[in-house]
Amino acid sequence: MKRISAPWRMKFLEDHPEGCPFCRVQAMEDGPENLIVRRGRQAFVILNRYPYTGGHLLVVAKLHKPTLEDLPADTRAEMMELATHCMQVLRQIYQPHGFNLGANIGEAAGAGVAGHVHLHVVPRWTGDASFMLTLAETKVLPETLEETYRRVRQAWGE
Ligand SMILES: [Zn+2]
Repeated sequence: MKRISAPWRMKFLEDHPEGCPFCRVQAMEDGPENLIVRRGRQAFVILNRYPYTGGHLLVVAKLHKPTLEDLPADTRAEMMELATHCMQVLRQIYQPHGFNLGANIGEAAGAGVAGHVHLHVVPRWTGDASFMLTLAETKVLPETLEETYRRVRQAWGE
């Protein structure tokens, strides 16, 4: 068996640690399996597998960096453009009354994947906190992740 030592692979692994979920999904084909809705030049949009509300999206930098100031300025700019487009798409599908838009930087701040910076786009409805409590009690979900994926992807268009 031949061992291939390729500098590009070293570089890829350096940029994309194998244990990182956001690096792993980038290597997969886009669909309901990896939940990536849209790939930009330096960032992508993905459904949160553990949504706070229906339609909870994440804008993720392609580079594996823990914090915004480690990213090139044009990556940060693209992330904000993608977040804006997320809100347009979510308004069209779900007519939310508002959004939470933000990032948890570092484990101390509650980041689930602290090594790989990402923005949360969470649609909100007046009274949704009590609505979600009701849902949790009855264990009824308004729609499956696969259904959300299909609708967001369709609304995003080309
Ligand atoms: Zn990563």
